[in-house]
Amino acid sequence: MTAANLLDFDLDALAAFCQSLGEKRFRATQLFRWIHQRGEADFARMSDLARSLREKLAACAVVRPLAVRSEHVSADGTIKWLFDVNGGNAVETVFIPEDDRGTLCISSQAGCAVGCRFCSTGHQGFSRNLGTGEILAQLWHAEHELRRRFGKDQRVISNVVMMGMGEPLQNYAALLPALRVMLDDHGYGLSRRRVTVSTSGVVPIIERLREDCPVALAVSLHAPTDELRDDLVPLNRKYPIAELLASCQRYLERAPRDFITFEYCMLDGVNDSERQAQELVRLIGEQGPVGLVACKFNLIPFNPFPASGLTRSSEQRVQAFAQVLIAGGLIATVRKTRGDDIDAACGQLAGEVQDRTDAQVRMTRAPIAMLAVARSAASAPGTPQQETR
Ligand code: SAH
Ligand code: SF4
Repeated sequence: MTAANLLDFDLDALAAFCQSLGEKRFRATQLFRWIHQRGEADFARMSDLARSLREKLAACAVVRPLAVRSEHVSADGTIKWLFDVNGGNAVETVFIPEDDRGTLCISSQAGCAVGCRFCSTGHQGFSRNLGTGEILAQLWHAEHELRRRFGKDQRVISNVVMMGMGEPLQNYAALLPALRVMLDDHGYGLSRRRVTVSTSGVVPIIERLREDCPVALAVSLHAPTDELRDDLVPLNRKYPIAELLASCQRYLERAPRDFITFEYCMLDGVNDSERQAQELVRLIGEQGPVGLVACKFNLIPFNPFPASGLTRSSEQRVQAFAQVLIAGGLIATVRKTRGDDIDAACGQLAGEVQDRTDAQVRMTRAPIAMLAVARSAASAPGTPQQETR
């Protein structure tokens, strides 16, 4: 019998597992707190559990971390880990420290099947889904490693964004229990608005997330028309813009005080003209009288990589684009990048590992897009800084 990885379980699943060992629910809660709140992986050290339970657990369970393949620390304090997920695959996780918060950007898949033109993860293709335990192991490692390093016994990570490698809503079965552990008061105790799921627009699963666990939602829009979005984000052919915006609208109805963040990666000469900004204003305006008033555009400087054949919009063009959105009554921000010196772009480092022979990829030393997105999602309206816990 292979040992159960307890990082795979939300509290209900852990309670069911403990019950199968003849233990009561409160034992599961104690165990859960040891694992997630104290970062303990060794059952022998869980001092308030009965010795008989510790022995049972040692025989049939494990808290399985991911192996760290590398760690890079940026001059600005950003930390990027590359974790081994077997079969030659690796995923990345990035910690972004700021004065008032610490944000962790987590991966949900090795590679990604959506295949967006501007995304280096997409260019790698899809390897496999991560399990719940592999998603949570990124948070578990980062939180407890950083507490040890900073000599803190309090929480270091205040916000989580599912903006690493992969499309989280194409791995929903593993994502949902992971989100529940993040929100659980006996787990990481993060509030709903401090956990952001970013999606390229898997409409039916947005509907399920709304019902199951309506955390903050970020939608990767990137284009004002279906014609262009079909090309940039191939999933648009299945779930076109009108359907996507309607599902955003329904999401907000469930969580009326929240905001949707629209991510928009600025690609030179592709989606960055003032005319396209006007089209976006019109598109959002068409969403009815209530409209998507509760939305915010996050303009991301494209992080170039050679295989994409795309280039980043000039700062001037980005500013002009933002001004049109703002003049049209939308909220728009342009994000500065962080951790430029450690290549923390979406899929960048894992891309290097996968593709060792590709000198061009290896040579890429580009600033971060993923961090820009992550950082702004963490500070988006709806994830208020003033929120206290
Ligand atoms: N699959 C999800 C989440 C991971 S990607 C999604 O697409 O939303 C996180 C964000 O990084 C997305 O908004 C994505 O469009 C953006 N991104 C990916 N590659 C990028 C690049 N090379 N430059 C800038 N942003 C990029
Ligand atoms: Fe996948 Fe998101 Fe990259 Fe598109 S941008 S390929 S959905 S990870």
